Amino acid sequence: MRASTPNGEGIIGRESAEAFSRPFSAPSLLLPLEIHVRTDTGRYLSAGVSWDDAGPCLALRSPAGETRQMRLDAGTVLSYRVLPGEDGALRHCLGSVKVQDRYTRTAEPCPGHCAAERGYQCGSCFARDDWRLVHNVHRSGIAPPGLKLYLEQPHWLYVATFADGSTKVGTAADGRKHLRLVEQGAVAARYVARADNGRVVRVLEDLVTNEAGLVQAVRSGVKAAALAQPLEAGVLDRTNSVHAAAARDLLAGTDIPGFTVTAETFHRPDQAETVLGAAGAIAYPLDPGSGEHAMVIQAMVGAAALVAVEGTDTPFLADLARLKGRRLHLGSYQTRLPALQTALF
Ligand SMILES: [Zn+2]
Repeated sequence: MRASTPNGEGIIGRESAEAFSRPFSAPSLLLPLEIHVRTDTGRYLSAGVSWDDAGPCLALRSPAGETRQMRLDAGTVLSYRVLPGEDGALRHCLGSVKVQDRYTRTAEPCPGHCAAERGYQCGSCFARDDWRLVHNVHRSGIAPPGLKLYLEQPHWLYVATFADGSTKVGTAADGRKHLRLVEQGAVAARYVARADNGRVVRVLEDLVTNEAGLVQAVRSGVKAAALAQPLEAGVLDRTNSVHAAAARDLLAGTDIPGFTVTAETFHRPDQAETVLGAAGAIAYPLDPGSGEHAMVIQAMVGAAALVAVEGTDTPFLADLARLKGRRLHLGSYQTRLPALQTALF
């Protein structure tokens, strides 16, 4: 059921709230939830999923430049269509970041509203972005003054394990020590070193990669798919413990100055248990980064969401990292499950 507005675009109103709530009232596999139907609609550029102390949210920017965070709490209806650009491009430039100091970063929207050329930026936004320099600063020594201030704070080196047992090494600034790992979607993790600054921690990160063989990135799609068939929690914790111990042994044997070896365990958010314990959950059968969708958020791990969809009791795991750089129209839409898939349910 779709309410209409003068411009003919769908909105989510009372009628569609009822339409949404009907199929979600009985599913045996899902949590009983109060459905939060959003009354705000419109076009937004999505900067992807981020977490704060209250939970996950979707960062959005309107064409007028206003930014807002759409909370992705349990029960939230995420209903949208992905809008292509004039040239058909689905991924758009997210602009550039100026790092002012340890605490402040200023996001500058893309002046040309361009398609993304590399990653999530057009060429000119990439060129003026401070943040791109952070990954190479321990080798190049190149950093503008604000980024230097940011890098002067203590940083943590962590070893994170995902639901399929894949494990990576990474870094977190002191102020983002916990949330960085939450955003990564770590199922088990340990902090293995506290470094005096952001340069030393990246030297240590490279050392662990080169000597202990831990990668520095695991793709979001892999993380989300793994959550459909997670390894047992004890196995994941032991896997992480073994890799963390190997990294600590390696670090203890180096003469690199400016850090201490640590042994501190990361505690994942409570809602991760809902995702990891979702019986019968399978990968969402469509690409959340194109087409139209309506999903009710049940719980999240990083950018992966356990969602309910109208017309089936099967819970799905959707990779909402696919929304990064997409232009979305928030409104009254629905997920049309592929016919073959529906037959399997
Ligand atoms: Zn740009």
